[in-house]
Amino acid sequence: MSISIIGKSIGESVTLKINEIAAILKAKGEPVIHLGGGEPKTKSPIDAIISTTALLNSAEIRYTPVAGTVEMKKAVIRYTEEFYNRKVETGNVIVSSGAKQVIMVCLQAILNPQDEVIFPLPFYVSYPEMIKLCGAIPVPALSKEGSFYPRLKDIEMKVTSYTKAVIINSPNNPTGAMYSEQFIAEIVEFCEKKGLYLLMDDIYHRLIFDGKKLISSYDYAKDLGENSKLIVINGVSKQYAMTGFRVGWAVANKKLIKVMSNIQGHQTAGPSVILQKAAAGAINGIQSQVESLRLTLENNRNVMMQQLNAFDGVKITKPDGTFYCFADFSVYGKDSTKMSNLLIEKVRVATVPGIEFGMEGYLRLSTCGSIKDIIEGVKRIKWALDPNSPNELYIGERKLVRDWI
Ligand code: PMP
Repeated sequence: MSISIIGKSIGESVTLKINEIAAILKAKGEPVIHLGGGEPKTKSPIDAIISTTALLNSAEIRYTPVAGTVEMKKAVIRYTEEFYNRKVETGNVIVSSGAKQVIMVCLQAILNPQDEVIFPLPFYVSYPEMIKLCGAIPVPALSKEGSFYPRLKDIEMKVTSYTKAVIINSPNNPTGAMYSEQFIAEIVEFCEKKGLYLLMDDIYHRLIFDGKKLISSYDYAKDLGENSKLIVINGVSKQYAMTGFRVGWAVANKKLIKVMSNIQGHQTAGPSVILQKAAAGAINGIQSQVESLRLTLENNRNVMMQQLNAFDGVKITKPDGTFYCFADFSVYGKDSTKMSNLLIEKVRVATVPGIEFGMEGYLRLSTCGSIKDIIEGVKRIKWALDPNSPNELYIGERKLVRDWI
C-alpha cells in the first residue's frame, strides 16, 4: 500500500490508546485504576447543558460561520477581557473543534516545509506530530538536567535561521509546572525581538494551585497591533470538564485569524453549533464549578505527592497546576514503555510512559480520579516495581504473586 511520507511519519496518540485499553479492560470487569487520563471526572457545568436544549428542541441544527458563532466569539472576547485583561474584537477570534484543532490550523497557517518550531521538553505529545503534519521540524529544548522549568537560554540555544515559532504550554502537560512570570515576560520579549510566532497553549491556565495567580502574556507584549505574532490558545475541555464537547479557540491578529479560517473552512468548517452553544453557556455561566474542580485537583495533587514521597527511589517535582504528576521512576527501569505495559498488564494501573513526552524513565500519573484511585494506584505501582515489597498483593479477592522481579 502506498502511504505518504507525512502519513508514515505520524505516530498513534499513545494517550488516547491507553484510554482505549483501560476502557476495554474495565468493560471486561477488570479492576482498572486509571492514572493515565487527561480529563476531569466532574460533570460539565449545568449552564453548558441548559444552553443547548432549546436549540436541540428546535431540530434546526445548521452550519455556523467558519470561525465560530457570534455568540461564542463574544463569549471568548469576554473571557479574554476577564482573564487576560485584554480587549479584542470578533476578527481576532477563531473557534475550532478543540484546542488541538486550533493549534493544528494555526501551525498550518504559519509553517512552511522545513521550518522549525521550538518547545520545551518534556512536551505535550501532539506538538511534534502536528508540526510534522505541516512538513516542518519539531525542535524540543531541554532545560537544566532534571528541571521542568525552561530558561530563556534553553530556547535561545535552539534558534536557527529556520526557526518560525515557539510553543509554550504553562501550566504544563505532562509536568504540571507553571512557568515563572519572568520566563513568560522574557519569552514574549524574545519572540517579538526575533520576529518569531509565539503560541501560548493556556488550556490549563485556571487550574493552578498554592495561591498562584493567572499570568497574561499580553502584559509583556510591546506590539499588540496587527503584526503581533502572539497567539493565545484556550478551550473548555479541561477547566470546564468538557473534553467531549470539542471546543477550543485562538486569539491572534486579524490577518492570521483570516488565514486560519480559510484553512478550517476546507477542513471541517465551523465547529458544531450545539457544542459552541454549550461552550458559550459554560463561559458565560456560573464559574463556581471551575473553582471547585481546581480545589479538588489541588487536594488530589497533595495526596499524590504524599503517596509518591513515601515511595523510595521515585523523584518528583511538585506540580503547580493541571492534573498530572511527572515522576522519575528511572531507578526501576529506563524503558518507560516497558514499565507502563507491565503496570497495566500485571496490576491493572494505567499510566503514560514518559518517552511519549520526550523523556525516558518517567511516568505521567494523572490526578483526575478519586483519592481512593490515587492511593490504590500508587500502592499497586509500588508493589509491582519495588523489589522490597512483599511478594503477594490482593486486589479485592484476587491474589497476585510477583514473579517478574
Ligand atoms: N494542549 C494541551 C497541552 C493538552 O494537554 C490538550 C489536551 N490533552 C490539548 C491542547 C487539547 O485540548 P482539546 O481537548 O481542547 O483539544
